[in-house]
Amino acid sequence: MAALDAADSASAQPPTFAVEAAGRLPDYDAVRRAAARLDGVAHRTPVLRSATADARSGVQFFFKCENLQRMGAFKFRGAYNAIAALDDAQRRNGVIAFSSGNHAQAIALAARLLGVSATIVMPSDAPAAKRAATAGYGGEIVEYDRFSEDREALTKRLARERGLTLIPPYDHPDVIAGQGTAALELFEEHGPLDALFVCLGGGGLLAGSVLAAEALAPGCAVYGVEPQAGNDGQQSLRAGRIVTIPVPKTLADGAMTTHLGELTFPIIRRHVRDIVTVSDEQLVDAMRFFAERMKLVVEPTGCLAAAAAFEAAAEWRGRRVGVLLSGGNVDLAAYARLIGGG
Ligand SMILES: *Cc1c(COP(=O)(O)O)cnc(C)c1O
Repeated sequence: MAALDAADSASAQPPTFAVEAAGRLPDYDAVRRAAARLDGVAHRTPVLRSATADARSGVQFFFKCENLQRMGAFKFRGAYNAIAALDDAQRRNGVIAFSSGNHAQAIALAARLLGVSATIVMPSDAPAAKRAATAGYGGEIVEYDRFSEDREALTKRLARERGLTLIPPYDHPDVIAGQGTAALELFEEHGPLDALFVCLGGGGLLAGSVLAAEALAPGCAVYGVEPQAGNDGQQSLRAGRIVTIPVPKTLADGAMTTHLGELTFPIIRRHVRDIVTVSDEQLVDAMRFFAERMKLVVEPTGCLAAAAAFEAAAEWRGRRVGVLLSGGNVDLAAYARLIGGG
């Protein structure tokens, strides 16, 4: 399953940092427009507190629960915003995405709500539960063989032949703006927090959060959090350019990206305080904490930000710290094994 999801964001070609990307970078106004589009459609997810977490650490934590978002992850926000922004002709023709993870379900559901047809390119050995969820939201699944077919080439050919618009999982202005509405809601409800921890795969959620923070909480220290095994974002921030790594092995299957995006990187770079990493063991500890203390199912990737925030607690004593819980879609057998194992 992990290997399949990794393919979501890995691309065959390392990106070249394009200067013209600057002209396409979304801004805070784009986040506001996304919030207006999502109003009454996406859940305004709750921000939960934990007396236990606060007492343990001396920090005031604010957990933004995107595991309780429609289809179980923040990805619904970006997918819906991107499809809602299409013109009439594009909507009539439909959209296409390649994914076996949360982006596929987000595109399928958002497209159905907007009356647009969605084609999802998935590996033929994708987990049955994920296929069923995507098909259940009305997505038309096109299968490919991971070992012999080039997914990007297939997707591009289908897009061309059928006149479909490709919606990528993170490197798209409307996707980034949509993802930014989660942090926007958090700041609107709880003011300019002292720090905000956000998980990092391709950087759509983190870049969107930066846009919200720059406008509403310029003094808030924003941190990106990656799995230890896949710290391409941290390396990129240090190097000042997008660094590409091999597909990492980690429980955080939503963050198995090999590189940041041409649009997400410049936004992340101009504002993020740092990018930090956590181990798979820390992810499992956080999953147990959320299950036991807060009665929340959070998937491993969804625990990245929390694990880093717990680790950094000593630095933030007496302060107000936001944590984005990005999703809750996890295979139940795997979940039981992980949280039961010790
Ligand atoms: C996609 C995803 C991420 C990573 O988001 P990016 O925008 O690619 O950085 C994190 N958590 C979950 C649950 C996801 O589905």
